[in-house]
This record gives sequence, structure tokens and C-alpha cells, in this order.
Amino acid sequence: MNMESRPVIRFGLLQQMLAGFAAGALLVIGLLWLGDSMLRETSRQLVATLEHHVRPLAGLHRLQARLDGVRNLELELSRLHDVFVVQAHAARLDSEIQALEGELGEFAGRLALHSPRDAGRLTGHWLEYRERLVEQVRLAREMDMPGVERITTSGSYLPFTSIQSLLREVSVRTEQNAESAYLETVREQDRQRAMLLLLVAVASSGLLAGLAWSGRTVVRRVRTLREHARGLAAGDPGGRVGIGGRDEIGDLARAFETMREQVQAREAALHHAREELELRVEARTADLREANRNLRLLSQAVEQSPVGILIADAGGVVRFANPAYRRIGELPLSPENILLVDALANEPNVQNAGSDLNGVIGEVARTGESWEGERQITRNSGEVVWERVRVTPVFDDTAVVSHLVLSREDITEGRSQQEKIAWQAHFDSLTGLPNRALAIDRLFQATGRSQRDGSRVGAMFIDLDNFKQINDTLGHAAGDELLRQAAQRLAGAVRREDTVARLGGDEFLLVLGGLSRGDETVEVAEKIIAAFASPFQIDERELVTTPSIGIAVFPDDGDDPMVLLRNADLAMYEAKDAGRNAFRFFNQAIHDQSLRRLEVGRCLRGALSRGEIFVVYHPLIDALSGRVVGAEALMRWHSAELGNVTPDTFIPVAEQNGMIIELGAWILAEACATLSRWQQRQKDFVMAVNVSPRQFRAPGFVDSVAECLAAHGLSPSQLEIEITEGLLLRNQAEASRLLGELHDLGVRLSMDDFGTGYSSLSYLRQFPFHTVKIDRSFVRDLAEDRLDRALVIAAVRMAQAMGMRIVAEGVETDEQWAFLADEACDTLQGFRFGQPVREAEFAPRWLNAQVGRLLPETMAAAM
Ligand code: C2E
Ligand code: CA
Ligand code: CA
Repeated sequence: MNMESRPVIRFGLLQQMLAGFAAGALLVIGLLWLGDSMLRETSRQLVATLEHHVRPLAGLHRLQARLDGVRNLELELSRLHDVFVVQAHAARLDSEIQALEGELGEFAGRLALHSPRDAGRLTGHWLEYRERLVEQVRLAREMDMPGVERITTSGSYLPFTSIQSLLREVSVRTEQNAESAYLETVREQDRQRAMLLLLVAVASSGLLAGLAWSGRTVVRRVRTLREHARGLAAGDPGGRVGIGGRDEIGDLARAFETMREQVQAREAALHHAREELELRVEARTADLREANRNLRLLSQAVEQSPVGILIADAGGVVRFANPAYRRIGELPLSPENILLVDALANEPNVQNAGSDLNGVIGEVARTGESWEGERQITRNSGEVVWERVRVTPVFDDTAVVSHLVLSREDITEGRSQQEKIAWQAHFDSLTGLPNRALAIDRLFQATGRSQRDGSRVGAMFIDLDNFKQINDTLGHAAGDELLRQAAQRLAGAVRREDTVARLGGDEFLLVLGGLSRGDETVEVAEKIIAAFASPFQIDERELVTTPSIGIAVFPDDGDDPMVLLRNADLAMYEAKDAGRNAFRFFNQAIHDQSLRRLEVGRCLRGALSRGEIFVVYHPLIDALSGRVVGAEALMRWHSAELGNVTPDTFIPVAEQNGMIIELGAWILAEACATLSRWQQRQKDFVMAVNVSPRQFRAPGFVDSVAECLAAHGLSPSQLEIEITEGLLLRNQAEASRLLGELHDLGVRLSMDDFGTGYSSLSYLRQFPFHTVKIDRSFVRDLAEDRLDRALVIAAVRMAQAMGMRIVAEGVETDEQWAFLADEACDTLQGFRFGQPVREAEFAPRWLNAQVGRLLPETMAAAM
């Protein structure tokens, strides 16, 4: 890393090559220069040899020649005789002597440089010879020829030969010197040439070695790199490359190293990713295997299930049917591609396998809401089979119904047991028709369906006109038989899916669902009247009874099933008023009443602030001791415009327009305030307050109760909240929660008007009720109605068994009182004891009061 900051001296391949070339060139230049200087030295030596040895030799030869010429002139001179010729010759000799002397002198001078002794001898001999020669010239000039001849033959010969031999000697020596000098030079030259060759050889092999070394280094590094690259390409990451240097190969090696690291890192990442992928694939495979196993188990379970299961697609085409279904539905082995409608319609042994299901299936496919129900099918053999049928939608990813699962289970056996029990709860034992509870349930179902599909429901209230008379005169057995036969005629007049129920006594209810217009009921009503036209055959007697029919149509004549029922009842009375054996629609009356409701609603607004609303208290009496144990707070309205309006009129209106929340809160506060004043005088006094469904579900209701209690310093157990069963029908989870909260608060909960709605035991068990209030309609007819007595007795036993207190309301007579006290009813309420009164009147009369107890005789007389 520091390398980057340091200045890097690069020595690249190009530089290396240039350096190599430069070194080679320098070497060549050096060698050339060396060779050149050697050559020059050799030629210089040759010139020196020439200078020292050859040139003197040439001068020597010239001197010898000139000496020989002088000797010849001397000899010739001695033989001449002519004066003139002798004179001329002497002159020539003389000049020759002069010339010889010059040359000799010069030669001797040079000789003296390296051989002074020879030079001295030569000079000595010459002086001797020159003296003889000069003598001869003088003699010649004097024409003394014999003297000349004498000197020539004896006098000059010796010095001449001495010079001649000396010169020869020197010449020989010089020649030898020259030769040896030449040979020496040649030898020197050979030595230098050998030297040069050696140098060239050494230098060029050095250069070659250098080049080879650097070449080899380059090649070696490149090869190393190549091996690593090959390794990397083959997938072997290998170790470090280990090539340094500041040249391109070094760069390449570093780049390669980086690349290798990256490749390794990438490979590691890849490896990791692959491992992870493998793990995931494994996990997924395991999941899939598990899912497959589950699927197999599931499909085996489905295959072996005793419940018939059929799957159809959205187009109604059968896709699957398990063996159980194929058995039940008598389908072929592979029923796929058959239309479900056909599959249902073509069940060979069954009379009605599909007819009732097709509608349900269509409904489930359309709404996406599953359906469950039980139905009866009749086999051709006449055997009746009970089936539990479920139609469940299957949704695709886009929440659209893609398939339907139809399951059918034969529950004939289980049902017969269960049926007996249920039957008793839901059917009238005398006629076999649905009882009041089931009739109301059916009515709720029909109106519920009507709200979904916009159809209408007709509720027909039927009362037999002279039944009471027949019953009284001919006895109960005849009355019962008449009711049985009447029930059969009624059932025969309607469609299979309609409900004919006995509400009690001679009252029947018909529920006609799925109508498109209200007046479709006319046909049924006329049929019923026609059905009653012929007399009944009872105990060999012919009896005639006629029906009075009241018709109310949902939702036109009431958007609540209970209201509908009440309106049908009202219409029935109109029919009776109209002269019996007739039917009447709840038309004008409901119209008038709805107008009145509007009026009531209008006047009710502001009634509270105008002080038109007030509370009355109705005492609650302990059945055994006759002590007053509490009171029910009841709302009253004296309207400036309408006069007194009963709670039965304005409470439903207030419930509908929401004012009940305000009114309910007001009466709760009033009742609590009153109770706080009374509790000083009677400690255990309990105040019962009615709470309507809408008020009950209003946000913060429970809190408001707690606040109210706290504000007046009351113990929660002194407050009893009365609610009706209707509250429990809708959104049970919410109702359960709220009731639980109230219970936790310590407040008592009372089930009001018990017996008029579902009166289901399961409700009572399911919610934390403290008290059950038997509706006054049951108390009213206690004297005459066996069934009502039975119901009251049953309700008391049941409440006792569940540890609940039971209150009977509407006690008007001593008989009723006696009966209820006898049956161990806990608390009584009714006009027998007094009317509901205002606080000011209540306190002095009822606080700490006790009503007179009945005498045993009275009780006996009452019953
Ligand atoms: P309920 O809750 O069943 O109240 C008892 C009703 O029975 C009262 O009628 C009472 O006067 C009447 N009653 C008591 N003893 C006898 C008797 O011996 N014979 C007869 N024939 N009737 C008797 P009321 O005050 O006209 O109230 C009618 C209904 O109006 C109440 O029935 C209750 O459902 C509702 N209601 C009255 N006050 C309130 C209230 O403050 N809040 C709510 N939510 N509803 C109220
Ligand atoms: Ca009540
Ligand atoms: Ca009541």
C-alpha cells in the first residue's frame, strides 16, 4: 500500500531491451576501438622498423655503391695517361670524394647513435682512405702517374677494404636487426590479434549470457504465470504466483493475483451460494416430501372416509368423488366430467336427491359462503335417510370460487337418537308440527334468506274460530284430535319447503319463504279456507271449524321477524273482527301504525328535556316471605301532544331511531339515584333496569354502568340488568363479551321475557345469567293452560338446577301467586301487588314492606 505513495522506478521490458541493445552496441564500439588501436600500434611498429632498420640499410647500400664508384675511379685514374683525361678524371674523383665524405659523415653520425665504436672505426678508416685519395688527386694533377699507380695498388687498398668490410659488417648486422625487428613486430601483432579475439569472444559470450539470462528470466516468469493461469482456468486456485519486479510481467502477475483473489472470492461466494441453494433445495424437497406424504395421507383419508366427498369445478362439472360418495350417490367408478346437477338428479334409487341441493350449491358458488345442513331423502324402497350435507367453496388465488366440495354423510342412525331429543324441543307432540320456537327459528331463517336474495316472506297467523267451544263441550281428546287433523289439512295446503307450526292452543303459524310478491299468499290462504270447508270426522261426529288468517309480509309489513309475527297476529284479529273464516292482510293497520310510529318518533325528540319522561317503580316480591326485595324501573312518557304513550309503543321507536341510548342512560342514572336514596332505608334492595339491545351494544355501555354505580356509591350486586333473548341472537361473541364484562363488574344479569323467543337452554348455560324472568304471557294463562303450567314448572326446575333465581312477572291473581309460590318460584311481580308508581309514592308504601301471605285454604281453592 505504501508502494503507491513511494515514487516507483519502473524498469519495463522495453527499457530492459533498450539497455541490452545499448550494452551490445557499447561492447561492439569498444571492441572496434580496441582493434583499431591495435592495428595502429602494429603499423607504428612497422614504420619504426623501417625507420630504424630498413632505411639505414638502403643508405648503407648507396654508401657502398658510392665507395665502390670512388674505388673504380681511383683504379681507372691509375691507368690513364692523357693529361686532359687525367685532369678531368681527377676532378671527378675529387667531387666524388666530397660526396662520399658527406654521406659517410651522415651515416657515421647515425651509426654513432647505437654503435659508437663502429662509427669511430669507420671515421678512422675513412680518414686514412681519404688521405690516400687526396694524394692520388694531387699526384694526378701533377701527372705523376706512377705515384698514383703505387698508391692505388698498395697504399689505398687497405683502408678501402677496411671500410668495405666494416660497411658490409654493419650492413649484415643491420639486416639481421631489421629481420628480427620485423619478426618481433609480426609476433607482437599475432599476440594482439589473439588478445582481441579473446576479448571479442569473452565480451560476446558475456553479452549472449546476459541476453540469455534475461530472456530466460522473462520466459520463466511468463511460464509461471501461464501455469497459474492454466491452473486457474482448470479450476485449481493454486498458491501465490510469487512474481515480483517492476516490469510489465510484474504488473501482469499482480493483476493476475488480484484477478485470482477475485476469482477465488467469487468462487467462494458461488460455493457458499450453491451450498445454501442445496440446503434450501433439500429443505424444500423435505417439505415437498412431507406435503406429498400429507397429501397421500389426506387422499387416503378422503378415499376411505365414510363421508361421501365430491369435488366439482366452478362450471359444475364433477372432478372427483370418493368411494363413499360413489356409493351414496350411486355414481360410476369414474364420475369425472359428469355434471353435478345430473349426478344429483340421476341417483337411481332416490326420489329427491338433487332438487333441494341445486339451489344451495348455486348459492354457495355465488356468495362464497359455505353451507351446512341436514336433509331427508327418500329411497325408492321407501326408506328415509338422513344426510348431513356440507357445501364448501374452494377459492383460487384471486379469491374467486374455483371448486365446490360437496360432502354427504348418512346420519340416519345418529339422528334418530338425537332427533328424539331435539324433536321434543322443537316439535309439538300433539300434531307433530314445529313448535313456537322452531317456527320462530324458521321465520328468522326465511327472513334472513329474503334479505340476501330480495324475495318476500309471508307469515300467516291462523286461529281456529270455534275451537275453544269444541274443546269445552266435547273434551280435550276431541280437541286434540281436531288439532291433529287441522294440522294435517294445513300441511297439505302448502309447499314442502314451507313451515306449518303450532304456536300453542289453536294458533298456527305458516311461514312461506321465497315469494316474489306478497299477494302470492292469497292463494295459500284460500287453499287453507277451502281445506277447512269440509267437516272434520271426530269420534264419528262431524265437526266444522273455520280458520281466521292474518297475513303479514316481510319486509313490507315489518323488517323484524318478531314484528312480522306480531303484525300477522294483529291482522288475524282483524280477520276475526271481519266475521271469521277469512283472511286479512296487515295492510291498512300497519300503514296507520307506521304513521303513528313516525309521529311518536317526532314527539319523542326532546321529550326528555321537556320533562315528559319519568320513571315508575314496580315492586318485586319474595314469593315465600312476601317481602319486597326490589323494584323494576319502568319508563313512562306523558306527551304534551299525544298524551300517555305506552313503553310498548315508544320503546321500539326509540330503539329504531337510536334515542333509546339516551333514554336508557337517563333511566339508569335515575334508577341509581333513587336506589342510593332508598338503600339507607332498605339495605338489600335490588333495582332492576331494562336495557335494550341497541343501548347494550352502544360503545362504553359497561363503563357507563360502572360509573353510574360509583357515582351513587352503590354496590354492583344491587343492580340487575334485564335484557331480552333477542340480544343474544345476533353477534353472540360480542354479546358474550359484554355480558362477561358486566358479570365481572358484579352486576346481576337477568334474562327478560323468557319463553317468548328461542328460550334456549343453551343460551342460559352459555351466558352468566343470575335471574330468569318468565314472561307474563305464560303467567296469564296458568289457570287454563296446561302447557303454560308445564313450561313454568320446567323453567323453575331448570333455573334451580343451574343455580339461577327465577322471577315470574304479570302476577295478577291469587291463584297465580299461589301456584308460583308452590312451585318455588323465587320472586313475583305483578298488578296483584300493585301498579308501578313514582318514587315519592313507592318509598312509603313499599320500602321494608311485606305483602300478606295467602292462607293454605286459599291456595287449595285457587287450584
Ligand atoms: P317488561 O320488561 O316485560 O316489563 C314489564 C312489563 O309488564 C311492564 O309494562 C309492566 O307494567 C307490566 N306488568 C307488570 N305486572 C303486570 C301484570 O300483573 N299484568 C300486566 N298486564 N302487566 C304487568 P310496561 O311498563 O308497559 O313496559 C312494557 C315494556 O316496555 C317492558 O316490558 C319493557 O320491555 C319496555 N320498557 C319499559 N321501560 C323500559 C325501559 O326503561 N327501558 C327499556 N329498554 N325498555 C323498557
Ligand atoms: Ca323487564
Ligand atoms: Ca318482561
